Amino acid sequence: MPLRILLVEDEPDLAAAIQTVLQRQGHVVDHCGDGLSGWMLLSSELARYDLAVLDWMLPELSGVELCRRARAAGLDLPLLLLTARAETADRVEGLDAGADDYLSKPFAMEELLARIRALQRRHPGYREPLLCAGGYRLDPASGTLRVATPGGEVSLELSGKEQQLMAYFLEHPGQIIPGSRLRSQLWDLHQDPVSNVVAAQVRLLRRKLEAHGLPSPIETVPSRGYRFRPAEAVGP
Ligand code: CA
Repeated sequence: MPLRILLVEDEPDLAAAIQTVLQRQGHVVDHCGDGLSGWMLLSSELARYDLAVLDWMLPELSGVELCRRARAAGLDLPLLLLTARAETADRVEGLDAGADDYLSKPFAMEELLARIRALQRRHPGYREPLLCAGGYRLDPASGTLRVATPGGEVSLELSGKEQQLMAYFLEHPGQIIPGSRLRSQLWDLHQDPVSNVVAAQVRLLRRKLEAHGLPSPIETVPSRGYRFRPAEAVGP
């Protein structure tokens, strides 16, 4: 399941490596290199993060201070601290500050991914994503969308972004979703703010469905956004 992740890490090479690995898993990652910017993003209304990976030693504000602030502000997302320190007392301080887990540097990227998966499962708000609605079923492992039609099941392979978009629609069937919300949940903040990436991606997804002979279940609701309305849900 794609996550919206905040990464606060001031070592550029490590940050770039982590970002690449997480993006390859289909996650959407915002990165910044100091604690104050991290806090601005974490506490802003622009994006709602599913998880944050915070380096301990950061300019401006430490990762531990970020954990404290996040918890004091009532944010309950999973927080993973990265630390070059190995002393037990430090670990306790981090956990006391509200971190859910920590990872000692250097670490293997596989271990980072495993910790993130574990944090996801442990989180009280976690539920297995139910990626099906009205005859549409998305398998996140393979990226295959299966659609029940009167003539039988149609399968199509979705690209990474198409999967994220489809997953979001399947989790919110029948709801009008503003383009701005899709944009803030599925694209990172550093992308050109004027380009209309959402409309372009919706168009691509519709075309792919049409190319397989399927009517598009994604409606455009003028000046309000998009609504996923699978054919079965449309009344006479
Ligand atoms: Ca650091």
